[in-house]
Amino acid sequence: MEPSGEQVPLSGGVHGPAALRELVELALTAMEVGAERRGGPIPAGEPEALARQFEGAFGYVWDSTESGEKADEDALLRLTELLAYGSADPADPSCAAHLHGPPLAVAVAADLAVSALNPSLDSWDQAPAATALETALIGELAELVGYRPESAAGVLTSGGTESNLMGLMLARDQVLGGGRSVELDGLPAGARPRIFASEAAHFSVQRAAALLGLGERAVVTVPVDRELRMDPDRLADSLAASVADGATPIAVVATAGTTDTGGIDPLHAIADLAAEYDAWLHADAAYGGGALLSDRLAPLLDGIARADSVALDWHKLGWQPAAAGVFLVRRAQTYASLARRAVYLNPADDEQAGYPSLLGLSLRTTRRADAFKIAVTLRTFGRRGLGRLVDTCHELACSAAAAIRAEPALDLHCEPILSTVVFRYLPTCPVPPGPLGPAAADRSADQFADRFNAELRRVLLREGRAVVGRTELPGTGPGRVRLKLTLLNPNTSAAEVAALLDTVVRTGRELERNI
Ligand SMILES: *Cc1c(COP(=O)(O)O)cnc(C)c1O
Repeated sequence: MEPSGEQVPLSGGVHGPAALRELVELALTAMEVGAERRGGPIPAGEPEALARQFEGAFGYVWDSTESGEKADEDALLRLTELLAYGSADPADPSCAAHLHGPPLAVAVAADLAVSALNPSLDSWDQAPAATALETALIGELAELVGYRPESAAGVLTSGGTESNLMGLMLARDQVLGGGRSVELDGLPAGARPRIFASEAAHFSVQRAAALLGLGERAVVTVPVDRELRMDPDRLADSLAASVADGATPIAVVATAGTTDTGGIDPLHAIADLAAEYDAWLHADAAYGGGALLSDRLAPLLDGIARADSVALDWHKLGWQPAAAGVFLVRRAQTYASLARRAVYLNPADDEQAGYPSLLGLSLRTTRRADAFKIAVTLRTFGRRGLGRLVDTCHELACSAAAAIRAEPALDLHCEPILSTVVFRYLPTCPVPPGPLGPAAADRSADQFADRFNAELRRVLLREGRAVVGRTELPGTGPGRVRLKLTLLNPNTSAAEVAALLDTVVRTGRELERNI
């Protein structure tokens, strides 16, 4: 078949930006129109009705192309407007459920340049500048956590989930290897590896254990205190009991900032225990790593430099568009089991001739230059500038906690540590009749509070009033459902947070009246 000679607009090359500029302008306008139509933090409505509305507006792609007509020229405009309308907008002060923040405009612009130029970090000849830049950024971030940049190593990841998987993979290979090669031969016969993590550690730890062939039950969960920090005495007991039982502790995961409370495990005590048992220490600082940017909060992470590996997420307290995960190891040589030679990407002769390769640092092959937006952001704001944003979000959380303490209808779980506030609404309406007896009645009051708070959050969503988090405290039994604000928008004012809490209380009262 002869090429048609027709030119397709591309984003790269000398003339690419002109085609792109026009389309970006269009998409930005559509975003404004869609957001205006939404008019709140999330579109009001039940999920099913919204899905029907979205699918209707989506159109059916095969129809228009198979009938031989020209494809839908307005697709970008129409679908961008739909996407904006149907978004939970993290820049809205009433959208405060998850570690889902509003990205900085400069980071989005940098990411657009990355999308357009499309460097891929699996070989130097697809990304000369991006390769050098990621290497430099990893050195800077190693310094931020207190590693020696010349002996550390790391890579950009899709987030904490991938970083935790990598940390635990290296732990498995380093600790169980001992002369053998786990990545080549699999687990040694009879090995009973164990990973220790708190009850409040991220669920990706269990998933990683499953993927690594250890099984989720290889994760021993250690109890936490009220702020969801691991109890180091209970860790010591669990380690001793496992060893007495003939198992091998391969890793301890210290959570430096739990997703719910921001609680930071006692890093020094955990590092001492990990060292005593020759276990790898992985610090999951996916959320709490942002505290390293703030002079005021950084001391909370003292001891993180003792970890063998660290996970950081710049799409959380770093205001980057996802994904902007970072995985770091203290000693570059511990990366050995991931090393990979692919003859078409990093042949040995290229490497000898001075062409660097990042292939052996990642689980992925094709890989975006996610380091670029972080590097641009750091240079634009500086560590101090970003630290001020972290402090602002921390202060917002403190002001929310004060407002909750002052409101009798709300019950604060604990003082904020980073930028989340965990609380619940206390219904005062009579509990619907339950089983007889005081203990059973108590249980039923707790069950009622759980159901009430869960429904309260769904009313807020359904009415498009607010996006508030819903979680459960570790443990078993009723009375554990909590609401949560995750404050990541430094442009939100304390008055707006107070108004959001008022909305929660007002909606709770309405719900009580309707029961
Ligand atoms: C968010 C989070 C993760 C998961 O990170 P992703 O970027 O969503 O993959 C892991 N650990 C903690 C503590 C987190 O808060």
